[in-house]
Amino acid sequence: MLTGKDIRAARKARGLNQTELGKLVGCGRHTVSYWENKTRLSRRCACADICEALGLAKRLLADWSWFRDHQQEAIDRRVEAELQRAREAEERRKATRRVPCGAKTRKGHPCRALSEPGKRRCRFHGGKSTGPRTEAGRKQIAEAQRRRWAAYRGQNNRD
Ligand SMILES: [Zn+2]
Repeated sequence: MLTGKDIRAARKARGLNQTELGKLVGCGRHTVSYWENKTRLSRRCACADICEALGLAKRLLADWSWFRDHQQEAIDRRVEAELQRAREAEERRKATRRVPCGAKTRKGHPCRALSEPGKRRCRFHGGKSTGPRTEAGRKQIAEAQRRRWAAYRGQNNRD
């Protein structure tokens, strides 16, 4: 990457002092000195003019695109990290969220208890359940669901 040291070296190689280079470019010797002491040059006019006068303009532009590309990568990485954090926070919220259970109770109204964290039902209505484990249990659940859907469809067809 082009630095102020490159400007100084190029100036000395041409046998110019800072004042002479400044006159050539149309700036003061302090401006020349300023850029010669920088570790990162910019495309701002005085610096670009100095580089132009010393034949360093191409390298300045090349450095600029290198710098810009790496800036972009850094921004992309930050955005990606931010998104990842948001996704993880949402996962955590989901895992601990408690909602009203709402299962139909024997009295016929919806259950008002809070669900188990991250589940939809309270501990009395299956919130602790991890599902049927045996083949017979799975068949029983499947059969119950079929009956439930059949009843649901029958109800809807009547309307
Ligand atoms: Zn419940």
